[in-house]
Amino acid sequence: MIRKIIHIDMDAFYASIEQRDHPEYRGKPLAVGRAAERGVVAAASYEARKWGVRSAMPSLTAMNKCPELIFVPARFDVYRAVSMRIRAIFFEYSDLVEPLSLDEAYIDVTDNRRGVPSATLIAKDIRRRIWKATGLTASAGVSFNKFLAKVASDYRKPNGMFVVRPEEADAFAEALKVEQFWGVGRVTAEKMHRMGIHTGKDLKRFTEDELIRVFGKSGRSYYLNARGEDDREVTSERMRKSIGAETTFLTDISERRELLGHLREIAEEVWDRLSKNFFTGRTVTLKLKYADFQEMTRRKTLAASIDRFGLFWMVAKELLDSTNIDIERQIRLMGLTVSNTEREQTGYRQLLLDFGDEWSNNSDTRYDRGLAPERLTRD
Ligand SMILES: [Mg+2]
Repeated sequence: MIRKIIHIDMDAFYASIEQRDHPEYRGKPLAVGRAAERGVVAAASYEARKWGVRSAMPSLTAMNKCPELIFVPARFDVYRAVSMRIRAIFFEYSDLVEPLSLDEAYIDVTDNRRGVPSATLIAKDIRRRIWKATGLTASAGVSFNKFLAKVASDYRKPNGMFVVRPEEADAFAEALKVEQFWGVGRVTAEKMHRMGIHTGKDLKRFTEDELIRVFGKSGRSYYLNARGEDDREVTSERMRKSIGAETTFLTDISERRELLGHLREIAEEVWDRLSKNFFTGRTVTLKLKYADFQEMTRRKTLAASIDRFGLFWMVAKELLDSTNIDIERQIRLMGLTVSNTEREQTGYRQLLLDFGDEWSNNSDTRYDRGLAPERLTRD
């Protein structure tokens, strides 16, 4: 069966939100981040990119490249709210939504809720709805696997869309630079260049075993991707029943104070994962494993979902405090899990009701007239 996968990627997400909310910044080179010595650019508007400003670049370097650069402090609460809004739109089409970050997601629309056979039409519809609901533009890639869909979403950016059909996949992948391959970073790319591999076509000279020998497990995906193939499925975190994290200590611990320090780190990690996946739950479970591998768990269930880190941390600490730790036996592992989620779409459905579907009254007309990109990125 041929799958239908859409990859949606918001255009210069944080920067576009700032330009949307501050009309005076539209059409100007803008960076989200602090203009301080140790500051880093979190996102750059398309105008700033023309000057060579990129995300993750030190603020000072960015200022040197573009003296007119405007710095705006990040407002992650706003970015998260917008992200949640666009995700609610995705879930109206399919249950199989896999977010990669706040502004990017895969959607498997093979069996979609709308019964629309064309993934291209769905992608178009999603982009139009995102614009209508948020005043922001998104680009889309449409294909029959994740790899091709993701590469394709980059082809007509900003505010564009690209489709790779099965019969085009092989030629499309052959022409790609290795840097565009999934999992190829700077180091791997350099290694490939030294081997004379620059494109997908070059990769095809090697057998799967050879690539695995040189690049480890990733060798298999390079082998498949070079042929336009990718067997990874779109997996929805929302299908998960719990999210957690655990740490095995380098040396066993019996000090309660030391345990508390590690608990804090684990709690922050879990919270990060919860927020990324918009996962909430009512039950927190603490797991401790003694040096002799005996396990002990403590859990607490609250009346409502935990929606603040402060509350989560309080519960986690309480669980540790209520544990009688046998100090004779050291602890080797500690973990925290949040479960008991409100299943189903209720959260997302409610969100749609709360937000409505209008960002501004005439936004739809502007999109249809093709004015969206100019207004937001090239004013
Ligand atoms: Mg993006």
